[in-house]
Amino acid sequence: MSTLGEFVAREGVLDAIDAEVGGFITSATTAAKKAGKVSCTACKERKACCWSLVVARLYEGIRVASTLRAQNRDTPELRAALADAAAAMEAADPYGYRRPCVFLDAGERCTVYTGRPSACGTLWVYSPPRACNEPGAPIRAFIADAEQAAATALEEPFRQRLGLRKKVGRRYIGVLPRMVLLALDAWDREDFREVLSAYPWPTDDEAARWGRRG
Ligand code: SF4
Ligand code: SF4
Repeated sequence: MSTLGEFVAREGVLDAIDAEVGGFITSATTAAKKAGKVSCTACKERKACCWSLVVARLYEGIRVASTLRAQNRDTPELRAALADAAAAMEAADPYGYRRPCVFLDAGERCTVYTGRPSACGTLWVYSPPRACNEPGAPIRAFIADAEQAAATALEEPFRQRLGLRKKVGRRYIGVLPRMVLLALDAWDREDFREVLSAYPWPTDDEAARWGRRG
């Protein structure tokens, strides 16, 4: 029997996922830059994109959890912050949520940057950065449909690889802090398959309320 942490390390589960997600981010970045001058690279504004509701797949939560464990950042304080943020996001209007991401530091930099979810890595805008912080301002953004579809397609092979139960009509997806918290909760458990399978995963319709965020 292995814990989740032992299983993903022994089986190299995250290596393939890292390569795939890295590929989505590279591909979207190249396409966005080809399509126009992106504003994000020189953005000096508050990172409104990191003060928004972020949806992630379970495998992306496990990637972030792996980084946090490797960096000795899995503390009771972090878990409490994740639980608080997860509850707030799950109760919020997805388009009205405005709170800093648990992983955003005081300098507005992402502290899990290399393991950030595809929803974060594929977001590029062409409108002026200040518009991102002005409610109702028009935003011109790159739409990473192909990359998001490819990221979604990874959910099922990942579920099979981990040996999680098939949930007909449901997806292993949720708000980012919830996905990371679930992964951390399961990290040292040998019954991680039961723990993760038992979570009330959203139906396709429930997940659709997040729109393009997932
Ligand atoms: S999405 Fe907006 S706030 Fe975020 S980095 Fe780009 S320009 Fe800045
Ligand atoms: S994970 Fe990183 S890039 Fe994504 S919202 Fe949080 S701080 Fe921003």
